[in-house]
Amino acid sequence: MAEGTGPNRTGAHLSLQTTQPQKWGQGWISGTLSIALGGIGLGTVLCFHFPGQFTLPSLREQYPLVYVLVLLHLVLVSGFLLGTISLWLRYNKALGLVGILLALTAALLGGSQVPVGQAAGEGGWLGLDWFLLNLILYSVVYLPLERLFALYPQQPVFRMGWQTDLTYFFLNTLLVQTTTLLTLSPAMILFDWAKITSLVRLVESSPLLIQVIGAIMVADFTQYWIHRTLHTIPLLWRFHAVHHSAQSMDWLAGSRLHLFDVILTRALTYVPIYLLGFSQTAVILYVIVVVIQATFIHANVHWKFRPLRWLIATPHFHHWHHSAEKEAMDKNFAVHTPVWDLLFGTFFLPERWPGAYGLSNGDQVPKGWLGQFFYPFWSRSKT
Ligand SMILES: [Zn+2]
Ligand SMILES: [Zn+2]
Repeated sequence: MAEGTGPNRTGAHLSLQTTQPQKWGQGWISGTLSIALGGIGLGTVLCFHFPGQFTLPSLREQYPLVYVLVLLHLVLVSGFLLGTISLWLRYNKALGLVGILLALTAALLGGSQVPVGQAAGEGGWLGLDWFLLNLILYSVVYLPLERLFALYPQQPVFRMGWQTDLTYFFLNTLLVQTTTLLTLSPAMILFDWAKITSLVRLVESSPLLIQVIGAIMVADFTQYWIHRTLHTIPLLWRFHAVHHSAQSMDWLAGSRLHLFDVILTRALTYVPIYLLGFSQTAVILYVIVVVIQATFIHANVHWKFRPLRWLIATPHFHHWHHSAEKEAMDKNFAVHTPVWDLLFGTFFLPERWPGAYGLSNGDQVPKGWLGQFFYPFWSRSKT
């Protein structure tokens, strides 16, 4: 068995296990990139073939089509070439072959010459296009960021449990249409009666910046108490324990949330936002802040933002929420501002970083997505 210290052309080997080094020059980087590009290319071709099934109508209108097709061409050619480079460099041919296979399948289905399907009216409750866009955007931002400013430089990109977290990321973005509907509807249907006209007028007449800050503060206050309740009531904790089962922190770990946890938290957090009547622009800006901050606070970066640590929730602050150390249990519930934790006595921020992450109370959450989905229904929580 060759131990791969350089290009190895003496024989081929196929294994789904990573048995060779992942360093530069071993064909691992080219192979992994080839699979990523081949997968993105194939997904994009599928979106073009079946826009009615796989694309979101509101997103479709935003595409600069010509650029997407040129980009698709580049992605497929690069995927194929990188796969070839990996085949040449690596003794284990699995990565290169899978990458090439994905790029070729996309090319056979039309590649960048794909007939652009008729955007069938409403359609599209699956946002494959939304998933691909998010995956590209997050990878472009976080992969270099977590390499250059890593808190744990030894932690690889494909660390333990990445498949599970990527499944969450895939489903969260694929089903964005459904979860948004389930998030917004309860407030609109059940709480319309509770709107106070004078208060709504006051909020409506406030400047945009005040509205955005107001929305963030109100949402975080609500979210703080929902989150704290999820930690307190054993039945609810079973759902939230899934989020805490992550043992490695990076941007992707933030995606690990049980569907029930996501919908319950978001739907209840939206109620006061809806009742106070913040403008649509303010709500959109608030959602952008949520998406950025909820991902960033999980990231594998060593920044502490010392001057702002009592005002803004940072990776340092939220990493402690995920700590497996007993003294950090049930601390730092806020997502946006530690002010609520300071006020309600749950603020915990030592100078150092946590020693380990994960569950500290004996809960045994399964490792895969499916097991985690059913875990809350079957498990007998020890808490
Ligand atoms: Zn929590
Ligand atoms: Zn978290």
